[in-house]
Parts: sequence; structure tokens; C-alpha cells
Amino acid sequence: RPAILWFRNDLRLADHAALYAAVETGRPVLPVFILDDAASGAWKPGGAARWWLHHSLAALGQALEGLDARLVLRRGDSVAVLSGLVGESGAADVFTGGMADPWARRIDQAAAEALGSQGARLHRMRTTTLFNPESIRTKAGGAYGVYTPFANACLALGGPKPPLPAPRSLRAAARDSERLGDWDLLPAKPDWAAGLRAAWTPGEHGALERAEAFLRHGLGAYPAARDRPADDGTSMLSPHLHFGEISVVQLWHMAQRGPGGKGRELLIRELLWREFCANLLWHHPILPDAPLKPAFAAMPWRDDPAGLAAWQQGRTGVPIVDAGMRQLWRIGWMHNRVRMIVGSFLVKHLLIPWQQGEAWFWDTLVDADLANNAGNWQWVAGCGADASPWFRIFNPVLQGRKFDPEGDYVRRWVPELARLEARHIHAPWEAPRPVLSQAGITLGQTYPEPVVDLGAGRERALTAFRRIRSEA
Ligand code: FAD
Repeated sequence: RPAILWFRNDLRLADHAALYAAVETGRPVLPVFILDDAASGAWKPGGAARWWLHHSLAALGQALEGLDARLVLRRGDSVAVLSGLVGESGAADVFTGGMADPWARRIDQAAAEALGSQGARLHRMRTTTLFNPESIRTKAGGAYGVYTPFANACLALGGPKPPLPAPRSLRAAARDSERLGDWDLLPAKPDWAAGLRAAWTPGEHGALERAEAFLRHGLGAYPAARDRPADDGTSMLSPHLHFGEISVVQLWHMAQRGPGGKGRELLIRELLWREFCANLLWHHPILPDAPLKPAFAAMPWRDDPAGLAAWQQGRTGVPIVDAGMRQLWRIGWMHNRVRMIVGSFLVKHLLIPWQQGEAWFWDTLVDADLANNAGNWQWVAGCGADASPWFRIFNPVLQGRKFDPEGDYVRRWVPELARLEARHIHAPWEAPRPVLSQAGITLGQTYPEPVVDLGAGRERALTAFRRIRSEA
């Protein structure tokens, strides 16, 4: 009678509480991953995440083979698959990690009931967050809605326990598995994944290498470099963390070694933003779909398919926005500062609902994460629990000049502007015509005119906001 280990967004062997517990039973372990697109519905993994998932599962499969175990892949209804496996194998225990995603929690509940009726138990362990979401509560017992007190409450706990070791050996149970290649997780025609292949190494090994390299070479410069998109000064660990190829607990403890200082403090603060988003989603399952501030439901959003398409394709005529959107398309990731700029531009200058931006990010980000994506879009739109004030509207030109002063980030992703000097690169429409023609640019032909006048877009957004405020 094996113990079943049900992998989810925790595709690793080290610091895996559920795997550890399964091994501790002393029984053979049956490792399984289930692709359940019907249960996740609109939030089934998007295109870029599917690419990542394929490679991450391949890496996990290989790592398990190193322990003489075979990863069992099954597609379909999670509860039916688990019940079937329990029935076939006679397993009495299923160990798994917990996720904050509402659809995953619904499955957990249904699985616990179904397995219970078969005389088996579902053991849910914490594998994706630093702390149990139920354990971080205000003094009054409620959920935190504001980041800083939440982060302080986490810090007061003194950090998570040390990570668990990976098993050295595994007594494995075997069952039939579907073939990963049959799941069609990779793009066929057109193959848009060349940029992803060049940028990333999915899997536990790739995650650890990136973490070690960043902590050794990047953490010292992180405070200054992390806001400059051209510097590649952040860890780029977000997809590895999303798929759980490295645990946030491991990363926290790895960051404690070495000199640390301000860089470590800021990294920990970012990991706590991730924790905060997971906590928000846990306590507000509507987070991905509806504004947490109800007044925003009455926002007079615009229906603007052409504006949305220009934004998605990186052809808005606003260079820092286009650079970010093209980086996203090419490598499935965008720098955080630029995510905030493109988000603000969509929601405020174009007055397009944040959910449309959220959906595009969902499909194109390799780190697409229900909690982080929804939490940050609500933050950008000003309708979240702890959000930037709605009337604070990023000016993309000033943001570009401040955070990409030499224009190198724009040059990298918008090559048609590469020959424009730094003082004009963030607002080409203001450059004298001879300067443009010297740089080989004809606005409206080689590079678009802005899809919206920035001043007028800003005023329109403020008017819309005043309207909901007076109605709220
Ligand atoms: P680092 O600066 O190295 O930070 C380390 C880790 O901390 C990150 O890997 C991430 O796990 C966490 N983190 C950092 N910033 C945030 C944040 N603002 N919120 C939550 N966690 C954070 N992040 C995602 O992982 N998935 C998403 O789907 C996602 N969508 C976003 C949408 C918008 C509109 C915005 C503004 C931000 C979004 N973020 C999302 C947050 C953030 O942009 C990324 O986590 C970050 O850019 C990842 O790069 P990094 O790993 O180099 O970050």
C-alpha cells in the first residue's frame, strides 16, 4: 500500500513537506502530477506557463528517475484521478501541498471527502508559502488588508523553520503514466518560444543555480539596480518560485548566509509581498475577478479593442510601455518597474479594465501566478486592499527618464528607436523632425504615434475616478 505524493505548484524534491511526510511513512511512494484544466477554468495555465510546466515536469521526472522513481502523469478531473489511484493501489494516504487558488481549494475539499469515503486521507501541507495563511492575523483575529503591518507581523515570527532536505533515496511504487509529449503543452506552429528557451532553465537545478548566482553576485547591487530595468538587477526567480522549483523558505534561508545588508532586507520585503498576495487571495477568493473596493465596479471603463491590441503588441507609441510589452512577449517576463508602468498606462491612460491586462499577463507571463497577478493588478488599478491611490497616475515619459535614463532598456526591446539619443528616446513625438530622420524614424510609419495624448488620457482617467468617488 503506497503513500501517494501529489505534486502541484511545488515541482521540487528539496524542502517539500508533503514528499518528506510521504517518505517518512516508510511505505513506497507514488509520485503523481495531475493536469486538471477543467477545474482551473479561466485560470488554467496560460501559454507561457504551459511551456514552463512542460520543462519543469520533464526536469522533475528526471530528478525522480535519479531516485529510481517514476513520475506518474495523469490528465483529467483531479478527484477522479486520485480516487482511481487510491482504488488501484490501495493507498491509504495522499500527501500534497496547499495552494491559495480558489479552484485548488475547492478540489482539496472534494478530494478529502472522496478519499475519506474510500477510507483514505488527504494530508495538506504547506509547500508554497512561508507561513500558513491562517496563522497571520491581526490582533482582532481578522485578515490583514495592508502590506506593512502584514510584513511586520511576519517578521515578528522570526522567519520560517529551516528547509527540509531532499530524500536521498525513495522506495517507489509504479503505475502507468501518460506521456508528457502527448499533453501538447509546448507551442507547435508558430513556435513562439525561442526567446523563452534562450532566457530560462526551468527545473529545480536551474532554480538553485539562479538563486545562488543572484545571492552571490546580485544582492549587493540589488538596492540600486532593482528599479532600473536595463540593469537586469533583480533575481528573475519569479517563475521558479511560482512553480515551486525552489521554495520561498529555501530562498529566505539562503539569503541569511553571506553579508546581506540592505539587499537582503529588500529581497525579504519582496518575498513578503508574495506572501501578502497569497494571503489576500486566501481571504478574498474574488481577488482575480472583482475589485476589492466595491465602488470600482461602477468605473466607466472603455471598450477599446484597438487600444488593447496596441498595448498587447507593444505598439502604443509610448517607448517604455512598448519595450515592456515586447520584453513580455519575447521572454515571458517583464521587469517589475515596467509592469507597474504598463499597467498604469492600460488602466489609467487607456481606461481599459484591469482584468483585461490581468488576462493578457496570465497568458504571456512564465511567472503568471493567480495571487501575485491579481493582487498587483488591483494595486495598480487602485481598487485593491492596499493600493496606490487612484489619482497617482504614472507619467510614462518621466518614469522612463528616471528609471531608464540612458534609454538602454528601450533600445534593447524597441530596436527601431535604437539610434535616438537618450534625451528624446522616451518621447519621440517631442523630438525635432531632423533628429528623428537622422535616427531613421518616421512617426506613424517606422514607429507609431502615441495611441493616446498623455495629458488628455490623464484628465479622462481623473474625471472617471471623480465620478465613482462621488457615487461611492
Ligand atoms: P525580485 O525583485 O528578485 O523579487 C524576488 C521575488 O519576490 C519575486 O520572484 C517574486 O516572487 C516576489 N515579488 C517581488 N515583487 C513582488 C510583488 N510586487 N508582488 C508579489 N511578489 C513579488 N509576480 C509574479 O510572480 N507573478 C505574476 O503573475 C505577477 N504579476 C504582476 C502584475 C503586475 C501588474 C505587477 C505590477 C506585478 C506583478 N508581479 C507578478 C510582481 C513582480 O513584478 C514580479 O514578481 C517580479 O517582477 C519578478 O521578478 P524577480 O523575480 O526578478 O523579482
